[in-house]
Amino acid sequence: MQNGKLIIFSAPSGAGKTTIVHHLLRKIPELEFSISATTRKARGDEQHGKDYYFLSLEEFLHRIAKKQFVEFEEVYTGTYYGTLRSEVERVINDGKNLILDIDVEGGLHLKRKYDGQALAIFVQPPSLEVLIERLTGRGTDSAEKLKERFIKAEKELNYAPQFDIIIKNYDLETACAEAEELVTNFLSQ
Ligand code: ADP
Ligand code: 5GP
Repeated sequence: MQNGKLIIFSAPSGAGKTTIVHHLLRKIPELEFSISATTRKARGDEQHGKDYYFLSLEEFLHRIAKKQFVEFEEVYTGTYYGTLRSEVERVINDGKNLILDIDVEGGLHLKRKYDGQALAIFVQPPSLEVLIERLTGRGTDSAEKLKERFIKAEKELNYAPQFDIIIKNYDLETACAEAEELVTNFLSQ
């Protein structure tokens, strides 16, 4: 059986990747979500084993030492995120396709690692100002956390040209439709 493909969504926090990825998961049954591990606390109604594997820092570092991640980053100071090797292999070795919502450095790392098998998509917000509005409006982060996300977002916007495709998320419906068409085409190749 042929290996499955990877659809990588990266963008600064607040650009809309989670919203677009959820739309694709509803519309394209051939996709499975890659559940990342993180040391951050669950937000809102997020569930362990569905949105993330929420791990203690100690457990995360232990898994790094055991080389259980295909990639990991300290995305924010003291807060780690990573893609477990077992998560990728479980899906693609079975010929299914994996969709990932990961930060820009992790996304580019996996694009290189799975060259020829991966489509790396960058979600671009209309501007840094709009991104700040969306992140603030989401209402899930403290003032301090928001500031760290804004600073990182400004740097991350510069990574866009290194991705296979840029989707502009100005109007959400248009962006979702564009993403759906791109991913469907890639999976049918
Ligand atoms: P990310 O996963 O990239 O951090 P989210 O998908 O959580 O971003 O989106 C951040 C916030 O912006 C959410 O509250 C979401 O509903 C909102 N949002 C996403 N896309 C748009 C859009 N095109 N127009 C207005 N608001 C949007
Ligand atoms: P959030 O805390 O908003 O869920 O995610 C913060 C950032 O971490 C986002 O850019 C998200 O895409 C990224 N992220 C989530 N999972 C992973 C992962 O497994 N690896 C990497 N490198 N980044 C991740």
